[in-house]
Amino acid sequence: MTLLEVRGLGKQFGGLHAVRDVDLDVREGEITAIIGPNGAGKSTVFNLLSGFYRPTAGTVTFKGRDITGKKPYTTVRDGIARTFQTTNLFEDSTVLDNVLSGRIVRSRSTVFGAVLQTPSFRREEQYNLTKAMEALEFAGIAHYRDDLAGEVPQEVQKRVAIAVALATEPDLLLLDEPAGGITEDETVGFGDLIRQIVARGITVCLVEHKMSMIMSLADRILVLDHGQTIAFGTPDEIKRDPKVIEAYLGA
Ligand code: ADP
Ligand code: MG
Repeated sequence: MTLLEVRGLGKQFGGLHAVRDVDLDVREGEITAIIGPNGAGKSTVFNLLSGFYRPTAGTVTFKGRDITGKKPYTTVRDGIARTFQTTNLFEDSTVLDNVLSGRIVRSRSTVFGAVLQTPSFRREEQYNLTKAMEALEFAGIAHYRDDLAGEVPQEVQKRVAIAVALATEPDLLLLDEPAGGITEDETVGFGDLIRQIVARGITVCLVEHKMSMIMSLADRILVLDHGQTIAFGTPDEIKRDPKVIEAYLGA
């Protein structure tokens, strides 16, 4: 089943076509990778899918519903979570509090409930804590729960960002360079984590430069260059595509 359907997607910044006429079908339960040189438009596509940017052309359909131009708060409620290329945690808050922030989109409590500490508010608070701890354990970082997010190692911060996203209970997770700025050894661990995420029934869309990771993980790969699609296919198809070899792999 197609979970996400993108048609003719475009984003212009003044005269610059950052993304132009991109089509993409993300199938449920798969890992779809987006690759391409720096400035190809990969992060812009994620910003368009998650509502951080409004498309200047095209449509985005998620679970059969048109979500084109919806705001981030709405898309995350609909079930699209994301991480950022540059990790954006609340650095002066604990790791646990960061992950709890991901629960806000699923919370029903009102400010009155919080002030009055009603039983239903307390139940929800307890439930959110359980969910946040589950996400931390899943991401392998539960022992960092009380550390300040700004003070844990880079690799842990990347895992915290994934845990925050998981805490929103997404159906689709967009990961923007999850292995950026970490060592080769740590990269293997992220590959494993992404496989576990998919095993939980979450569909993954992945932007990454580390080709070994892409080739071993991705079911399908979209190759962008100058905002446009130059190829879409399985890792085997992409590896053999002359356009990809010329424009991206440089062989
Ligand atoms: P990638 O993630 O593939 O490296 P980006 O999507 O970040 O590329 O950027 C694609 C192009 O769009 C680049 O030329 C970049 O400078 C431009 N761009 C991205 N965001 C903005 C913005 N908010 N304003 C102006 N130009 C932008
Ligand atoms: Mg980018």
